[in-house]
Amino acid sequence: MGARLEITDLTAAYGEFRALSGLSLTIAAGETLALVGANGAGKSTLMKVLTGLMGGWQGRVTLGDAPLRPGDPRAASARGIALVPEGRLLFDSLTVEENLLIGASGRRGPWDIPAILSLFPVLTEKRRARPSTLSGGQQQMVAIGRALASNPDVLLCDEISLGLSPRVVDEVYAALARVRAAGVTMVIVDQDIGRVAGRADRVACLFKGHITHLGPAAGTTPASLHDAYFGAAA
Ligand code: ATP
Repeated sequence: MGARLEITDLTAAYGEFRALSGLSLTIAAGETLALVGANGAGKSTLMKVLTGLMGGWQGRVTLGDAPLRPGDPRAASARGIALVPEGRLLFDSLTVEENLLIGASGRRGPWDIPAILSLFPVLTEKRRARPSTLSGGQQQMVAIGRALASNPDVLLCDEISLGLSPRVVDEVYAALARVRAAGVTMVIVDQDIGRVAGRADRVACLFKGHITHLGPAAGTTPASLHDAYFGAAA
């Protein structure tokens, strides 16, 4: 549980436009990395590369001992990479429990339905409900639970707190702390630098497809990241 992710000289483009340029970054097994950066910095593109949703990139991404094949989401999932997507993307024609079961990919591990419901007890009584009848926070819990159901070694969380109240965000992070304690490697994207840095080992800041800051999370604040965030340090 928990795998090392090594990204070397990664370049990813939409047509002529380079969203990631020569990006190199190693995330240790079991590490939690906060990934921050302004709109359009390339955070979601990196997640799409890692989950196989985007192909055609150049460079090398190694999970554990073996490279990832570009543009192969099934292989990435089978290798243990799971995504909590921005906007959650739940299936409203299915119940909460069915949404969770969709995530189960056959990989063995601790995250079966009872374990996920014990991580998010509020979902127990909602098992048979449609996701759209749940609060935003509960929907985010389903999205996290669905990703965990694949028993990932690497959990990617895009815009984890978007649109959620501070109290619900605290609940979501408390659950992620338990996932972290279980040894899962995590990358968390959050607009709130102070909040996500307080829950991570290191912080990486992207600006226009480049890493402009990479360092320990302790002591990282919006002010200390100002230049990296706005590109003055690039
Ligand atoms: P946000 O917080 O807005 O989601 P981000 O850091 O996740 O920002 P990306 O979504 O990775 O940024 O986008 C990086 C760049 O790539 C942006 O300039 C964006 O306009 C561009 N881009 C993203 N998706 C596409 C696409 N499908 N086609 C063309 N350009 C795209």
